[in-house]
Amino acid sequence: MLPFKLVYHDGYDLHLGAHVFPSQKYKLIAEKLVAGGTATKQDFLRPEPATDTDILRVHTADWVHKLKTGTLTRSEEMKLEVPYSQELVDAFWLAAGGTIVAAHAASRDGFGCNIGGGFHHAYPGHGEGFCAIHDVAVAIRRLQHDGVIQKAIVVDTDVHHGNGTAAIFSRDQSVFTLSIHQLNNYPAHKPASTLDLNMEDGVSDEEYLNALLPALRHSLDTFHPDMVFYVGGADPYREDQLGGLDISMNGLKKRDEQVFAEARKRGIPVVTTLAGGYAWCVEDTVQIHINTIYAAKEVAAKFPQVQSQAL
Ligand SMILES: [Zn+2]
Repeated sequence: MLPFKLVYHDGYDLHLGAHVFPSQKYKLIAEKLVAGGTATKQDFLRPEPATDTDILRVHTADWVHKLKTGTLTRSEEMKLEVPYSQELVDAFWLAAGGTIVAAHAASRDGFGCNIGGGFHHAYPGHGEGFCAIHDVAVAIRRLQHDGVIQKAIVVDTDVHHGNGTAAIFSRDQSVFTLSIHQLNNYPAHKPASTLDLNMEDGVSDEEYLNALLPALRHSLDTFHPDMVFYVGGADPYREDQLGGLDISMNGLKKRDEQVFAEARKRGIPVVTTLAGGYAWCVEDTVQIHINTIYAAKEVAAKFPQVQSQAL
């Protein structure tokens, strides 16, 4: 049994069929965690879809209406880069509900892991790059609303810049946004995060971790967040179809362990979400995401439970 909860729902599948986004990965990860003996059924929480009230703390009424009624313009659907369907919309509402549940669980247990989410390209009024609803922003706003947290940091390690996150929180002093990403990659326009770590093409494990960890430590020590929202992209992996860094699978696990350890040492709860992963071999993407759960388990065992500073 795990010392924290995994949040998952079969409805996370975006049902994209033959698409570069392997949306069946959520189910594969959940099944493999159980089949491999890492998790039991009791470790899982099943989320409800986020309420529209939750979604509307981040997104515009116009965008929510378009998603719910299937009235996106052709250019809006093209920007989203996934075909519109009701199942797709339901999956985004569920993912946001899942990140809310994971965040509440993290405030209790120190970690809370959504086996989904991390849709960091979604803006308040439109979707981009496979992301229609920004689950992490929705969860941050909900936990602030519930009085569970005041300040949050988003640590985004997806290979693509967290443009939606940066745009949503650009004028918000209560949320620190840190993005480490490949500079020469999607999205073309990268609104400034609180801290952007721009990686050149082909950087190695060592260069990547040497950039991330000191910046993370400094951010945690100066900002003092009540919660870390981790957007744990699998796509900095060297075998990724949409990435251009040279990070090994082992390097990605080290990244996760070290980020979690820095938070845990400071008594800050961590919410994990998956984000992107487009390895040529889908099993690699699944394994990288599973390694994030292993990393959380190892770090939870290494550092004794420290209750949330916010409680
Ligand atoms: Zn990505």
